[in-house]
This record gives sequence, C-alpha cells and structure tokens, in this order.
Amino acid sequence: MIQLHDLKFTPFISEAEINDAIEKVAAKINEDFEGKTPVFLGVLNGAFLFASEVIKRFKGDCEVNFVKLSSYQGTETSGEVNSLMGLTQPLEGRHVVVIEDIVDTGNTLESLNSILEAEKVKEFKIATLFYKPEAYKKSLHIDYVGMEIPNDFIVGYGLDYDGLGRNLTQVYKLKESKMTNIVLFGPPGAGKGTQAT
Ligand code: 5GP
Ligand code: MG
Ligand code: MG
Repeated sequence: MIQLHDLKFTPFISEAEINDAIEKVAAKINEDFEGKTPVFLGVLNGAFLFASEVIKRFKGDCEVNFVKLSSYQGTETSGEVNSLMGLTQPLEGRHVVVIEDIVDTGNTLESLNSILEAEKVKEFKIATLFYKPEAYKKSLHIDYVGMEIPNDFIVGYGLDYDGLGRNLTQVYKLKESKMTNIVLFGPPGAGKGTQAT
C-alpha cells in the first residue's frame, strides 16, 4: 500500500501487465502504419511514459509532437477541456496517432477530435493505455486500447493524484473505492480540479 497526499492506494496493475499492453498496442500500430510517416501526438502530462514506449517500438519514420490539455470536472457529467499548449506543427494531410494515458468520460478525446478535424488531417487514430468503458460517454471509436479497467481512480505510470504518482512503475488504485469522481475531482473551487494530463 502507498499513500499520496491524503489518500491510500493499493497495487492494481503490474509492470508486466503494463508492458504486455504496450507491446500489443505498439504491434498493431506498426502493422497499421507500415510505410507511412505518422505524427505521434502525445497528450501531456499523463501520456508521457506510454508515448515514449510506443514511439520507441515504431519501426519506420515518424514525427513526435505533444499537446497539453486540461479538463476541469465538477461532476461526472460536466466537463470542459482547455488547451494549455496547442499544436506546434500543421497536420494537414498527415497520418496522426493520438496517444492518451487514459480515456474516462471521453471529454478530452472529443475536444482533440475537433482540433484534428479542423486541421484536415488525412487520417487519425487514437491509442490509449487505459480505458474505462463504464465511464465513457462518447461515441468516438478508440482504435487501440492497452487495457480496459473498471471505473476506479488509478495512479502510476504517468497518471497522478494531485501531481503525485506519475513516476510509479506500476499502477495503483484508490483503496476505498466508494469515493466518486465528485469527491476526487472536487466541486468547482475546491482546489482539487484535475488536469487532463
Ligand atoms: P476524460 O474524462 O476527458 O476522458 O479524462 C480526463 C482526464 O482525467 C484524463 O486524461 C486523466 O488525466 C484524468 N483521469 C481520468 N481517469 C483517471 C484516473 O483513474 N486516474 C487519474 N490519475 N487520472 C484520471
Ligand atoms: Mg491528472
Ligand atoms: Mg490524458
């Protein structure tokens, strides 16, 4: 068990399981983008480790870029996504692979979707290490999913709780899972707003 700030977390997903998930996603991306020169677009901060592992395994030429988005969630149903660091290269006509740490409600993905549609990319696919099907509220297809997980709050391997835990090499989940997102992310103004990073 570990403690981050005021909360206790228990081991949930091992390094070996994370590695298997990465290998699976990377193999599929290699297959789908063979002979193309994709732009990998990592979503900061959470996806930095997953992005590096997927990109290291890509066998052809590729480019790497990042965006930074923040989402503020007062409740599970409301979500507003702001761009903290936008695109720094034109993506018109390019093959783009979005790399996310986790897809929860899908608000972040949906806003990325509109950004990429405006860019007139040739094709874009979405890769995420973790996916919470029970929490997902959108219809956008997620092309590569490392691992489906239940609707628990997790930390580690890039994912934080209020800034801490990103360096953990395995994933932990909140010990008392009775807490809802409303408590975790906090009501507006409570200082526990979450960055979609
Ligand atoms: P969305 O609801 O837009 O799909 O996800 C928003 C963001 O909330 C994610 O990119 C991630 O930063 C954060 N998030 C969602 N679920 C979790 C979780 O279980 N743990 C952590 N640490 N962050 C999460
Ligand atoms: Mg976060
Ligand atoms: Mg993210």
